[in-house]
Amino acid sequence: MTQDLIALRHALHRHPDISGDEGNTAHMVATALRSTPADLLVTDLGGHGVAAVYDSGQPGPTVMFRAELDALPIAEASGVAHASQRPGMAHLCGHDGHMAILMGLAGTRPARGRLVLLFQPAEETGAGARAVLADPTFAALRPDFAFALHNMPGLPLGAVAVAAGPASCASVGWRIAVRGREAHAAFPETGQSPAPVLARLVQHLASLPVSTATICHLNMGAPAFGIAPGQAVAHVTLRAASDTGLEALEHDLRNWIADNTGGLTLDITRHDHFNATLNDPEAAAHVEAARDELRIEKAAFNFPMRPSEDFGAFSAQAKCALFFLGAGEAHPALHDPAYDFPDALIAPGLAMFRAILARLTG
Ligand SMILES: [Zn+2]
Ligand SMILES: [Zn+2]
Repeated sequence: MTQDLIALRHALHRHPDISGDEGNTAHMVATALRSTPADLLVTDLGGHGVAAVYDSGQPGPTVMFRAELDALPIAEASGVAHASQRPGMAHLCGHDGHMAILMGLAGTRPARGRLVLLFQPAEETGAGARAVLADPTFAALRPDFAFALHNMPGLPLGAVAVAAGPASCASVGWRIAVRGREAHAAFPETGQSPAPVLARLVQHLASLPVSTATICHLNMGAPAFGIAPGQAVAHVTLRAASDTGLEALEHDLRNWIADNTGGLTLDITRHDHFNATLNDPEAAAHVEAARDELRIEKAAFNFPMRPSEDFGAFSAQAKCALFFLGAGEAHPALHDPAYDFPDALIAPGLAMFRAILARLTG
């Protein structure tokens, strides 16, 4: 069983798809699911999402487990035999492993209630969970409980970290476009250069606590020597432990920018918004109990995880818990070109999901 799941993981790893373009991966997943007697198989859910439902026919809760379909637009440098065959794209967040774990539950019919396996698109951009929730088809899958795991380099291999409350941060990307006016480099005073505004902005953002505002991209003017610049663009990622914290951060930054335009026009657009993930106490307690039943090591973890996770979007509909499965203390970080999901996590990940399901539907 585990060998089949490892083989599936390697096949998914060889053929990664990036967010919003997961048609091939979704097809591989749906094909694998068709070999199990699902009571309902949904495709094209919120984009390329796939879901399988296993219904006991008995009253009881609907329990959903979620994995992600998407890979990243980063070239892989892991050197493994099953490395990505698509240039510039790779499963460097371990979503291939998460899918393999979820596939281990395919065909499981609970004693009561329903099991839903959701293979969600576009997690990396924060668009996928919301798109799945907005799809009218999701009404037929609506869970009472929803669980997801994410592998976590830095934690001991196979150890589990979970807590009630904040599990992952809220974040949003701001594209800040500064419009001035170009001029001859000999007469810069006749134009309007974005350089002073940009310099003040960078200094202001750098004065905020670490990870609160990360400057991801800066671009100004043309790569020339005869033109004083008239345009600039900055991409800044804002991050906070809660949705209200992120709102306050955005509010403050908007006010700061309004006071510091230097007479230039600044346009702000928002991208890749992620809600914070808040673990429901009851759902988190089931994860903890499953870990203890399985005698899996408890990992110390500084909650919430800084990277965002769009799984938080499901907490409006269900009692949710996101937990972390250690990928090894010395394992390359998520999104590192050398990262590859540890196959040794498939068995404990599946055991955790099975134990959680048994607690709720057994
Ligand atoms: Zn990721
Ligand atoms: Zn991920």
